[in-house]
Amino acid sequence: MDLSIVIPLYNEDESLPELSAWIGRVMTENNFSYEMIMVDDGSTDNSWSVIEELRSGNANIKGIKFQRNYGKSAALNEGFKAAQGDVVITMDADMQDSPDEIPELRRMIVEDGYDMVSGWKKKRYDNTLTKNIPSKLFNAAARGMSKIKLHDFNCGLKSYNKKVIKSIEVYGEMHRYVPVLAKWAGFRKIGEKVVEHRARKYGVTKFGWSRFVNGFLDLMTIFFVGKFGKRPMHFFGLWGTVCFLFGLVIFLYLTISKFFFDQTGLTQRPLFFFAILAMIIGSQLFLAGFIGELISRNSPERNNYLIEKKTGL
Ligand code: UDP
Ligand code: MG
Repeated sequence: MDLSIVIPLYNEDESLPELSAWIGRVMTENNFSYEMIMVDDGSTDNSWSVIEELRSGNANIKGIKFQRNYGKSAALNEGFKAAQGDVVITMDADMQDSPDEIPELRRMIVEDGYDMVSGWKKKRYDNTLTKNIPSKLFNAAARGMSKIKLHDFNCGLKSYNKKVIKSIEVYGEMHRYVPVLAKWAGFRKIGEKVVEHRARKYGVTKFGWSRFVNGFLDLMTIFFVGKFGKRPMHFFGLWGTVCFLFGLVIFLYLTISKFFFDQTGLTQRPLFFFAILAMIIGSQLFLAGFIGELISRNSPERNNYLIEKKTGL
């Protein structure tokens, strides 16, 4: 099979008929053998019945329905598990990505030998203030931390060599950083292609303000797991020592001034204690978060999703 097109969707029933017809058209024009895997991420609208209906008209359409909303990463992960095509394309269901990009994205994998190619929404049709500016910041940070030269990490439209998606696990909200996961798995030939971006035709965005908070925290996770995941002591050991020495110096200063100079009325003292306390609490919190992340990455439960139904698989 030439292509698997994985489409995570959450309440997108209006878009699906048009999207699948368009993809189907592109596939026939290019003579591709393909499957379209629609992963219904616990939609509460008619998305699943639309998928079943579309499948009755086109056997290349397959569906997976989650019992509840697990998030885009979970949907991608299940789609990747099911995918059989030599090249796997992911795209959003909201018609912001154009299926006309698929042949070129596939060509770059098959002929140019890229492990993965990420779309770049060079010209975006989203709200400038809430999306475009924060997204520039995120991309700059992700670029700096991962050393992957991409302008647009979170573009929904991407293509992969099959072996890449079979080697990575997308969990939590890591769909924003799939190129980083691919790099960690040893796939270094990561390309970029400018893609057409369109305004959302139907429905509304499924990510609110929480995207910034979660995106930022996941970026930190990516950074720490990537840099210190295998050697946490280099981070915590260093700062733990710095913190301890700082406390020790202040402690010695207080002791000496008390016993040798009998200076008990120094006004800075409460401040010193406050600083020490803050540092201890801060490092404890950080440590707890990091340990939690390591544990969750090793939990056998982290990618267990209840799948309610499947069709064609
Ligand atoms: N999506 C999903 N599960 C979710 C949220 C979103 O499968 O919990 C899908 C959504 O239906 C769409 C894609 O992920 O196909 C991208 O979402 P959206 O268009 O809302 O994001 P935006 O374009 O605003 O970044
Ligand atoms: Mg969208």
